[in-house]
Amino acid sequence: MTTRVLSVASECVPLVKTGGLADVAGALPAALAPQGVEVHTLLPAYPAVLSALPGRTVLADLGDLFGGPARLLKGDLGGHMLYALDAPHLFDRPGRIYLDDNGQDWPDNPQRFAALSLAAARIGAEGVAGWRPQVLHLHDWQAALAPVYLRLLGAEGRVGTLVTIHNIAFQGLAPAAMLDQLALPRWGFQPDGFEFYGKISALKAGLVYADRISTVSPTYAEELMTMDFGMGLEGVLRSRKADFIGILNGIDESVWTPPYKTAKGKAAHKTALRDRMGLPAADGPLAVVVSRLTQQKGLDLLLEALPALFAQGGQLAVLGSGDPELETAYRAMAEAEPNLAVEIGYDEDLARMLVTGGDTILVPSRFEPCGLTQLYGLRFGTLPLVALTGGLADTVIPANAAAVMAGVATGFQFHPVTAQALADAITHMAELYRQPKIWARMQRNAMSHPVGWPASAEAYGALLKGLVKEPA
Ligand code: ADP
Repeated sequence: MTTRVLSVASECVPLVKTGGLADVAGALPAALAPQGVEVHTLLPAYPAVLSALPGRTVLADLGDLFGGPARLLKGDLGGHMLYALDAPHLFDRPGRIYLDDNGQDWPDNPQRFAALSLAAARIGAEGVAGWRPQVLHLHDWQAALAPVYLRLLGAEGRVGTLVTIHNIAFQGLAPAAMLDQLALPRWGFQPDGFEFYGKISALKAGLVYADRISTVSPTYAEELMTMDFGMGLEGVLRSRKADFIGILNGIDESVWTPPYKTAKGKAAHKTALRDRMGLPAADGPLAVVVSRLTQQKGLDLLLEALPALFAQGGQLAVLGSGDPELETAYRAMAEAEPNLAVEIGYDEDLARMLVTGGDTILVPSRFEPCGLTQLYGLRFGTLPLVALTGGLADTVIPANAAAVMAGVATGFQFHPVTAQALADAITHMAELYRQPKIWARMQRNAMSHPVGWPASAEAYGALLKGLVKEPA
């Protein structure tokens, strides 16, 4: 029997992306189909979504939604059904999806994503064009008010709900004065509900009222229940421990396929990468970074630890953008150090070149819900050197003495997340690089490590099916 699921997200590849959430929302419909789970997707009709909808068939008229007319349009997401929430006053505007021209949140973000959540709840309660989901899969704070609206519609006994946390740093806070404007009930505005220190918290609403909660790796799930990582929501998550699970993200293996069968084929790509980045020939390992340049990613620590890499005859190629201070610091160091090459910007082709030609990919994050680049590294035999946190801890088998002896290591891990521990890990990595047999074995292990969607899709499938309240 097929299980019907409505996936509700504020971004989704290939239409609109700012982060890993978009990759997950885009991959799940196809990945879940073999599990007997039929996923339809609800997205806001931003301009980029509208322009991908030929004909713009209207499936339903939703009437007034927070100050303007709203409709559901029919679209196609790689052969799967897409519903676009067409509410021009909320979504049809130029610029970035969450931020205005000054880089500030759009002031009406609370209304915009309350509208998305309310539309989801209405589809859950009433269906659309003869299709009614049995489960709502709600991604991040932008969809997390849906369980509250479902209660208001009296449908929480019929429709199951799962909230997935992609990054707890974003919680969707709104002033208490907006309660009525967002059509939220007074009974929920209390510390055991969706109140967070006097404000409305959309994410907390989901964590309190959804049937189940998931996040994108088992270790991040454990971390989120602690003060160091939970960002104020650790208590809520602890109270829901029995309903809370971590499921790793996968990568799209058809897009991320190495152009070689074995890592021996890397040599030519390494030369091409050095040429592209203007690095001289060298005997030591060529390390790469593809990342947002932010505090979260620990790239300030890497700047401090780099002398350890150069001392081993190693090199580093960096592609990234983000904090202006970090960009400046990397540029300045590259000017003084011939074995460091830095490109500031966002460039998918160059990202692929780095992953293909590098020997090792560095991910020294302070926190990392799942992380994708270490998965690319595994698949391409570009051994990941990562911090022991979140999804990085769950995906890399570190080259400690036992793992090397047993021939199972796939990369390097360091802890605590400090410049010194990172420098030590870099030195260890360079030592193993000089032992070609061990290094080649690690590359083989890495390249055969499963990083695609099948295993995770099975876990999501079981979770979603367990949420069905009304069998077909
Ligand atoms: P996060 O979502 O926190 O940024 P992830 O590792 O989950 O981190 O995903 C980052 C994604 O963005 C990866 O697909 C990575 O290749 C890509 N990426 C990050 N920075 C760049 C860049 N400067 N150019 C190209 N791709 C990038």
